[in-house]
Amino acid sequence: MDRTFYNKLAEIGLNQQPLDQDIAQEILTSKKIDILPLLNAAFEVRKKYRGMDVSVHIINNAQNGKCQEDCHYCAQAKTSEAGIEEYPLKSNSEFLTEAKNAHDKGAHRYCMVFAGRGPSMSRTLKLASLIKQIKDNYPIQICVSAGLLDQEKAQILKEAGLDRLNHNLNTSERHYPKICTTHSYEDRLNTLRAAKSVGLDVCSGLIVGMQETFEDIIECAYRLREIGSKSIPVNFFMPIKGNQLNQEPNLTPQQCLRILALFRLVNPTAEIRAAAGREMHLRDMEVLAFYAADSLFLDGYLNTKGSSRVKTLQMLQDAGFTLKSDVDLTELLAKEKAQGPQDQNTSDRLIMKELSDLRPEIHPSSLK
Ligand code: SF4
Repeated sequence: MDRTFYNKLAEIGLNQQPLDQDIAQEILTSKKIDILPLLNAAFEVRKKYRGMDVSVHIINNAQNGKCQEDCHYCAQAKTSEAGIEEYPLKSNSEFLTEAKNAHDKGAHRYCMVFAGRGPSMSRTLKLASLIKQIKDNYPIQICVSAGLLDQEKAQILKEAGLDRLNHNLNTSERHYPKICTTHSYEDRLNTLRAAKSVGLDVCSGLIVGMQETFEDIIECAYRLREIGSKSIPVNFFMPIKGNQLNQEPNLTPQQCLRILALFRLVNPTAEIRAAAGREMHLRDMEVLAFYAADSLFLDGYLNTKGSSRVKTLQMLQDAGFTLKSDVDLTELLAKEKAQGPQDQNTSDRLIMKELSDLRPEIHPSSLK
């Protein structure tokens, strides 16, 4: 493709116009579209709407295990035989302490992730009371991942002070029955609609690499645009032994980059997160992901480990990005330094020596 083609791609994103579906298909499949100019087009859009920031998220799991749903990719599903550490729901005082710490350290948002199909009415009321207590004490944004919600429950949480709901679509409508049978795609869409109808912001994304087609990925990108998801986690499937779905995905680093560029061009203003699996699937191309994406998970995912914090943050700073986080990265890295390199390799140790130079640029600020 010549330069005019890539300029046109950037222009479509910069003007927030809908990208033609045939071009979306070509972005994912055509060897005529080279990676670097494609990423450059996505980068122009990212820079206009998201600047050079990378938002650093750490998953705060409120409980683990014991879910009655059968999401085939999830180690907490009732059908999974993966050996994960189960732990019960944290107490209100634990949540309040965490929220206080987040607020005291300058965090803009506090996020809680709950396993399960969705809260009962009594659990919704308890969650609402917790949200209210946090909001009454600390002026901090709250994001919750709580499973399926109807409009009544969404309204209760909104009135208690909830700002944002995370609920991933995960894939296309066509592919959904192949990854879960205990609830439907429509259930997921209805949850997002309920959240939007009561004025909650929505964070919703997908997992690629679950034997879906390119058309499924494209459909999901457009569906998230239609919904107006402000934050889009793009997860790359990581097989976990014992899960119902555990086949190695057919993903290459270049495909992952094409997918991230597509999501940026289709959803120009959204926070696009290179989420779970970025280390495994992008390999040495990892830093290039952030020319399209502007956010990541640090510190591993719900039931799998990621790469070392120091290595990841250094990589981003070396490429000229500015780090933003809702957790105190300075403290987190200082702890890591105090503990010593442990299972990290020699290059991590050398990087840690330079942490004092890094710190002034690492500061807590807005998230998601
Ligand atoms: S509802 Fe959530 S916790 Fe339960 S199996 Fe599905 S993804 Fe896992």
